[in-house]
Amino acid sequence: MQGDAFLKCIDPNCGLEYPINSTNVQCEKGHLLDVKYKRTPNEKLKEIFAHRGMMDEGVIFNESGVWRFRELLNFCEIDTENIEQCSKFLVSLDGAEGRQSKPYHMTKVSAFTEISNDNLWLQPEGYNPSGSFKDNGMASAVTHAKMIGAEKIVCASTGNTSASAGMFAANEGIQCDVYIPSGQIAPGKLSQAYQFGAQIVEINGNFDDALKQSLDDAKNHNGYTVNSINPFRIEGQKTIPYRALEYLKWEAPDWIVYPGGALGNTSSCGKALMELYEWGWIKKIPRIAVINSEGASTLSDLYNGKFQEEELRWNKGKPNTDLIKQYYDHLDQEGIKPKTKATAIQIGRPANILKGLRALEFTNGIVTTASDSEMLDGMSVVGLNGFDCEMASGASVAGIKKLLEQEIIKRDDVVVGILTGRQKDAMLPVDYHNNPKNRFAIPPKI
Ligand SMILES: *Cc1c(COP(=O)(O)O)cnc(C)c1O
Ligand SMILES: [Zn+2]
Repeated sequence: MQGDAFLKCIDPNCGLEYPINSTNVQCEKGHLLDVKYKRTPNEKLKEIFAHRGMMDEGVIFNESGVWRFRELLNFCEIDTENIEQCSKFLVSLDGAEGRQSKPYHMTKVSAFTEISNDNLWLQPEGYNPSGSFKDNGMASAVTHAKMIGAEKIVCASTGNTSASAGMFAANEGIQCDVYIPSGQIAPGKLSQAYQFGAQIVEINGNFDDALKQSLDDAKNHNGYTVNSINPFRIEGQKTIPYRALEYLKWEAPDWIVYPGGALGNTSSCGKALMELYEWGWIKKIPRIAVINSEGASTLSDLYNGKFQEEELRWNKGKPNTDLIKQYYDHLDQEGIKPKTKATAIQIGRPANILKGLRALEFTNGIVTTASDSEMLDGMSVVGLNGFDCEMASGASVAGIKKLLEQEIIKRDDVVVGILTGRQKDAMLPVDYHNNPKNRFAIPPKI
């Protein structure tokens, strides 16, 4: 298997390649990179995955919802049946990452969004060990960090990335520096980073500023960046759609719906679908819907032509990157900062925007927005089904509702919504339910 995996620039007109043990997160011209594999995996693996899921036999790599699919992200180029090799290479929190995640029906959410309960699936990623989908990609990114002998991982975070990075770093005994926008992350997330012993670096600015600073510091002080611009993060996050698809017997749904922040999720879903389709593992391509917050709507503004007339597209690898630059200049000139209570998606400069556009083009995707109050309703109606999720995840529900109303999603379409994280902002539900004006509020009795 040696020599199967490598890194390749996503720009088809550049296409620079790097060995798999490179720590570059960009090509030398500044484009994002993909992990590529030369071999086509055998479709018989579907049976092996199912078997691993049911009969874990105490092997953590078979219990793990990420490493159960290890043949599809085997950038370590190990013998995936050899558990000793798995133990040596693959980073896992005792198999807990992705283990609890699968799609569920939630009757109150389907009633609220007005789609039949059979057609709506919601996949809570908040039941990951650190409480968000980030663990899927962090397991694989830290695996690569370990493979190349990194002693310190570094990230900027709106909260969940730092919780996840801190958790895996602590478990592996490596150092972790997290750059956070001071005063702008949910206390429940910040406290996790402290709890796991990460070194907090407070940045006077927003997430976009924190990311810039962390990338500079990682470069200058030998840190290994684990933000989602790291292509190995994207590999682990492919398992989110894998688990949904596997549960649906590899019958692709019509839609997969995500909240959009830095667009790592969108990118990884797109890459997963591109690969599965190319291998013939799925016959239909689900459409991706990305839901931005109204207060942090870069992708929606550009994709839907709300900034200038032009609708920004991947355009077969020739996106109009000037338009993105002009948009960012416009934000700077006008002093516009992303603003939403859903801090996990309070991002103005989505680092993976080009991979996101590629995913949207491949899947004939769509982008829309949800307001803070719509996201809170979405979050709250999930809670009424006995499932936990945070405000940013409420964007998936709000987006599904809106797209159904607009008849972009049809009533007989099969929809999978990803609930990205669990509640870590303790006062949000308290405040929501104490205001009787809120749609799903159950105020306390006095
Ligand atoms: C990170 C995060 C997001 C945003 O995901 P991207 O991949 O950056 O678009 C959404 N929801 C939650 C809960 C998150 O932690
Ligand atoms: Zn390039």
